[in-house]
Amino acid sequence: MFDALVLGSGPAGLLIAAELCDRGLKVAGLAPEPPTTAWPNTYGIWVDELEGLGLTDLLEHRWQNSVAYFGPEVLPLRREYGVFSKAKFQQALLDRARTTTWHRGKATGIEHRPQGSNLQLADGTHLDARVVIDTSGHFPSLVKRPPKQNIAYQAAYGIVGRFSAPPVEPGQFVLMDYRAEHLSPEERRQQPPTFSYEMDFGEGIYFVEETSLAHAPAMAFEVLEKRLQRRLAARGIEVSEVQHVERCLFPMNVPLPDLTQAVVGFGGAASMVHPASGYMVGGLLRRGPGLATAIAQALQDPKASPQVVAQAGWQALWDRDRLRKHYLYLFGLEALMGFEETRLNHHFETFFTMPQAHWSQFLADTLSTPELIQAMLGMFGRAPNDVRWGLMRSVGRQGQLLGAALRS
Ligand SMILES: Cc1cc2nc3c(=O)[nH]c(=O)nc-3n(C[C@H](O)[C@H](O)[C@H](O)COP(=O)(O)OP(=O)(O)OC[C@H]3O[C@@H](n4cnc5c(N)ncnc54)[C@H](O)[C@@H]3O)c2cc1C
Repeated sequence: MFDALVLGSGPAGLLIAAELCDRGLKVAGLAPEPPTTAWPNTYGIWVDELEGLGLTDLLEHRWQNSVAYFGPEVLPLRREYGVFSKAKFQQALLDRARTTTWHRGKATGIEHRPQGSNLQLADGTHLDARVVIDTSGHFPSLVKRPPKQNIAYQAAYGIVGRFSAPPVEPGQFVLMDYRAEHLSPEERRQQPPTFSYEMDFGEGIYFVEETSLAHAPAMAFEVLEKRLQRRLAARGIEVSEVQHVERCLFPMNVPLPDLTQAVVGFGGAASMVHPASGYMVGGLLRRGPGLATAIAQALQDPKASPQVVAQAGWQALWDRDRLRKHYLYLFGLEALMGFEETRLNHHFETFFTMPQAHWSQFLADTLSTPELIQAMLGMFGRAPNDVRWGLMRSVGRQGQLLGAALRS
C-alpha cells in the first residue's frame, strides 16, 4: 500500500508529489497522461514571490517595465513580473518527485477503509493508499463541494505571435489595459468590461490576451476574440503570424470543499484560486509544504484512518485565518463584478496606487486577517466616492460573505 496517492499531474499534482517525496513518503501518482506531458497553460507570477522561495531560475521571461491602464494615462507598477519556463518548472518538480510511482488512468470512484482508501480506475483496476490527494483541477473527480449556481469564470482569448507593429513598448509588460475607446458608448454601457494582458517576449514575438476578470456566465471566447481584434485594429495593428492561441477558462468563486471528507484536495480541486486575481501558482508553492508536513505527521500514526489524515491536510490548507480571508476576498470579487467600467477603473487605480506592500501581499494572500482588513479599509478611505458607494452597496448585497468571514 502507498502512503499517498496523488490524482493529477498538473502543477498542483507534481508539486504535492514532490513535497511528499521530500518527506520520505511512498508516493503514487495517477493521471490520464504521462506526467512528462507538457502542461497546456503558461503561468505568470510576480518575480518577488519566487525570490523568497529561491526559484527565480525557473522563469523564462522577466519584465521590470510593468504597467497598467485604468484611463488614458499609463500607471507604472514598479514591480517585476515573470513567466515560468513551463519545461523547467515541470522538470524541477518531476526531479524532486522522482521516487513517485506513476500510473496512467482516470479515477472513477473511491472506497474508504479504516487502514486506507481503495481507488477505482476507469479500466476496472484498483490502487490502494493510506490517503488520496485529489489535484484533478477546478472541477475535481473526487473532492466534494456544495453545489453553487452562477459560478463566475475568468475567461481569456490570447494570441502569441508577430504583429504588423509592436502591441506594447519594447521590454514592456501590461498587466491590465482597461482602455475601451474602441468600443461604442452603447457597448461600453451594456456589456461587461474586459482588459488586455500584453507582453513582449522578445525577437518580435508578443502575447496579447483579452480577458474577462470574472463573469457569470463566462464570457464567450468569440466575444473576447472580436474585442481583441477591435482593440488591435483601433491601434492600427494587424496580426501577421499566429504561433499559439490560448483559450483560458476557469472558475473564480467555486465554494470551499467539505473540509471533513476523507479525500484531501490541492490546487484547483481545493478551491485555491485567488478570488480577486485568478492566480494560484504562487499559492501552491507557499502552501504545499504545510500540507505535505501535515499529511506526513498524521501518517506517523499507523492506525490513522484516511479521514484523520485528510482532515489534518484540510486543516493545514484551510485554517480559520485562511477561511476568513477567503470570504473577504470573495466579498471583494462580488463587489467588483457589480462595478461598471468607470467605477471599475477608479477601483483599480486606487488599488494599484496603495503602498506596494499592501497590494502585492493582498494579491499573494500573505497578509494576516487584521492586515487584510486594514488594507481594505485603507483602500476604502482613499477611494473616490463612486467606488465607496459601490462597496457600501455590496455590503448590503453580499453581507453574508462578511458574516462568514466573522463567523469562521
Ligand atoms: C489558460 C490558463 C492560464 C492560467 N494562467 C495562470 C497564471 O498565469 N498564473 C497562475 O497563478 N494561475 C493561472 N491559471 C490558473 C491555475 O493556476 C491553473 O488553472 C492551474 O493549471 C491549475 O492547476 P491544477 O494542478 O490544480 O489543475 P490542472 O492544471 O487542471 O491539472 C489537473 C490534472 O488532473 C488530471 N486529471 C483530471 N481528471 C482526472 C481523473 N479523473 N483522474 C486522474 N487525473 C485526472 C489532468 O489530466 C491533469 O493532469 C491559469 C489557468 C488557465 C486555464
